[in-house]
Amino acid sequence: MDFNADYTMTIDGRAITTPGSIEVVNPATGEAFAKAPDCTRELLDQAVASSKAAFKTWRKVPLAERQAMVARAGEVLIANADELSRLFTREQGRPVAMAHTEIMGAGQWLQQVARMEPPVHVSEDSPTQLIETRYVPLGVVCAIAPWNFPVTLSMWKVAPALVAGNTMVLKPSPFTPLCTLKIGELFRDVFPPGVLNIISGGDDLGPWMTAHPGFAKISFTGSTATGKRVMESAAKDLKRVTLELGGNDAAIVLPDVDLDAVAEKIFFGAFFNSAQICVATKRLYVHEDVYDGLRDRLVAIARAVKVGDGADQGTVIGPIQNKRQYDRVMDLLEDARRNNLTLLHGADIPQGGGYFVPITIVDNPPESQRVVREEAFGPILPMMKFAEIDEVIDRANDSDYGLAGAVWSKDVNKAMDIARRIETGTVWINQNLNLRPDTAFAGRKQSGFGVENGTDGLLEFMAPQAVYLARG
Ligand code: NAD
Repeated sequence: MDFNADYTMTIDGRAITTPGSIEVVNPATGEAFAKAPDCTRELLDQAVASSKAAFKTWRKVPLAERQAMVARAGEVLIANADELSRLFTREQGRPVAMAHTEIMGAGQWLQQVARMEPPVHVSEDSPTQLIETRYVPLGVVCAIAPWNFPVTLSMWKVAPALVAGNTMVLKPSPFTPLCTLKIGELFRDVFPPGVLNIISGGDDLGPWMTAHPGFAKISFTGSTATGKRVMESAAKDLKRVTLELGGNDAAIVLPDVDLDAVAEKIFFGAFFNSAQICVATKRLYVHEDVYDGLRDRLVAIARAVKVGDGADQGTVIGPIQNKRQYDRVMDLLEDARRNNLTLLHGADIPQGGGYFVPITIVDNPPESQRVVREEAFGPILPMMKFAEIDEVIDRANDSDYGLAGAVWSKDVNKAMDIARRIETGTVWINQNLNLRPDTAFAGRKQSGFGVENGTDGLLEFMAPQAVYLARG
């Protein structure tokens, strides 16, 4: 595959080039390997105008036909998963096999969402009147995606928005634009022109989009800090917003667990994708009776997994995706060192220009430390001891975030009770990172606003319309 190909935006079903470009860096080497279009304001206007024109007809396309096209898009992703996954690794860093899983999963996600339909609520159906609430599409959706799961998180927006009858302008992160641009190319044969426009650009493009009066709704996934800016910008003309933001997820391990059975699951729940997952375990609370046993097992796994270029055979953990994030993670590590925290490192990392950080377990740091309070979004996991359930639940909930959490125990009733008391939108018991298209995903507190996935997520792309019909 020619990674250094000409990448184009998709506007109105056509390939669009731009006068300027942005460089795309391979995080395993720190070197630029391709260029992506840098969308101008004029081209953004064209994209919005094209989606606006397409909305007039797309909303009238029967639901079954829209669903069929979204399902077809899923097939196209699956059919191109091999090629896309190699490009994915090059720009995102994750090992090829796991990149492949993301593309396949995104394809299946499109197919599953394609089976969803909005409900109709009937409040009265009598001889005198019919009152029903149905759901209608909003218009043109502005979709903004991050770099950690660039394909999945974009398709979480594309699938429900288009099934619901909206059209969309989608912008990937400037750090990972290439797969999404390629997908735009592939989908030119799937959707009518203007239904899904895909544009890329630098740091100005997001704010231009959120301020653009042509959008009815913004669906945003990214950091909490940016989410607040998006909401502020959307407030000017009361655009609808869905914000999926950061997390600092706690996992609670009770003393009755089988350590050999859970250690690997807990490890990958924290470190998969170099820990760059909004719902990764980012604070690990372990009962004092099993603390040492779990810590030693996690460190042994960390020493055994290969950290390296995702394109190399056998790599399990790739680099941090970009320099900005690498600097943040290194700063957090440095802060932990300065505060004399005990750092337990995993396998050696490759030397050179790549953005590699050693897998690091922080041994029982005080709660007040930055490494506990902040979302690391990198492979540094604070592991803390606890003795009492009530106390650990308070500690888990003592966060501005409320995205997800996990409980590990053989006692299902006890675990269910703890789950109910955790202030997050998702809680896993004896599993983690499991998300489905038919199940609501919604961050509480500063982890989000609104819902993605499930019927609730579909309805975030629609407005209720109550119809009162007089009879007789
Ligand atoms: P980010 O906020 O820096 O960027 C996300 C997107 O917003 C990018 O496309 C970026 O170009 C764009 N953007 C930046 N500034 C903007 C502005 N002022 N207006 C509009 N758009 C703007 O986030 P990131 O670093 O790409 O992603 C990492 C963060 O995302 C982490 O905090 C992570 O927890 C969070 N995240 C959340 C979820 C979730 O579903 N809750 C999923 C994945 C990632």
